[in-house]
Amino acid sequence: MVNLIFLGPPGAGKGTQSAYIMRDYNVVQISTGDMLRKAVKDGTELGKLAKQFMDEGKLVTDDLIIGIMKDRLAEDDCKNGFILDGFPRTVAQAEALGVMLKDQLQTDITHVISLEVADEAILERLTGRRSCPSCGKVYHVVYNPSKTGDTCEADGTALIQRDDDKEETIKKRLAVYHDTTALVKGTYKDSGKLFVVEGVGTPDEIYTQIKGILG
Ligand code: AMP
Repeated sequence: MVNLIFLGPPGAGKGTQSAYIMRDYNVVQISTGDMLRKAVKDGTELGKLAKQFMDEGKLVTDDLIIGIMKDRLAEDDCKNGFILDGFPRTVAQAEALGVMLKDQLQTDITHVISLEVADEAILERLTGRRSCPSCGKVYHVVYNPSKTGDTCEADGTALIQRDDDKEETIKKRLAVYHDTTALVKGTYKDSGKLFVVEGVGTPDEIYTQIKGILG
């Protein structure tokens, strides 16, 4: 069973590695960022509440995020295991998660992997990141360009840059990460489940290390 928390700054490669893990371990990926972006796109009440925080690179309130996670963890597909990508981001969220897992699923986290990358490298990665608004596939203008240029290889949709992948917003998101999210790591340090992986190298090289941890 894999119930994994993926920690690490925005752009560390959590999404890319999650796709590999999902393929090999039959677990679902739960990305609070993806859920919020969808809510914004769909114009839901949640989306309206979250948009301004997201555009400014700030965290959405704990109550809101804990609420959507509670609903998400109640869905059937979480029973076989999951990857949490982008949650928990505060100590309060980490504590609420522990309670939700115990009460709702009678389970616990099995692994916490902190994927660590220096700020300068993050800035380079995120300013070059492009994604397909239709299927979600992610590219990089230098390291992983689309074979079809400015459009998605898979479905031909014009690629976009996420609003929060602009340089100023990335700097804010990194500051938030260091101020708040990095503390989450501390809450797991004595759990025996925390593993640190340096997020440098090719995605395959990094995945080899992760597989070594997950077994
Ligand atoms: P991400 O795609 O994970 O980088 O998330 C994009 C944005 O969504 C973040 O900058 C936050 O504004 C918001 N967000 C995502 N997950 C959380 C969370 N667990 N707590 C608070 N805000 C979040």
